[in-house]
Amino acid sequence: MILDLLRPKQIYNSIFDIPLERLYRDGIRGVIIDLDNTLTEWNNPELSRQTVEWLRRAERIGLRLCFVSNNSDERVRKIAETVRVPFVARARKPRRRSFLRAMELMQTRSEETTVIGDQVFTDMLGGNRLGLLTILVTPISKHEFIGTRFVRLLERLILYERS
Ligand SMILES: [Mg+2]
Repeated sequence: MILDLLRPKQIYNSIFDIPLERLYRDGIRGVIIDLDNTLTEWNNPELSRQTVEWLRRAERIGLRLCFVSNNSDERVRKIAETVRVPFVARARKPRRRSFLRAMELMQTRSEETTVIGDQVFTDMLGGNRLGLLTILVTPISKHEFIGTRFVRLLERLILYERS
């Protein structure tokens, strides 16, 4: 069912609430991470210190990371290079290709890969199509791209729909 493909496997308020150690114990080795509104505000060129520490902690646990963003190469590269995390920009999520590319970069299989993002129609749909563990977080900023706002409305309908 299409709704099952949109529905996240886990939901948290922010990346900081995600139980990274438990993910690792459950066999997760690679983490695909969305940028805008997941790690940072839309088009904010910097990550907070707390976010950088979170990334470092994930790596220390043994998780490989990869940013996958629909934003421009320049935007994504700037952030990725400051924290030395591999990335796929202009990803065209929910298309599968960029997720496959990320797994190739992290050398992980789909059953040991999770995708963390704030959008149902890109991050969750793309991840679920490949059988990844999909984790939805609340978007950081309310000041987002206007087109996204309508999508949020649809997302809310889906998240609160009970099967
Ligand atoms: Mg996002």
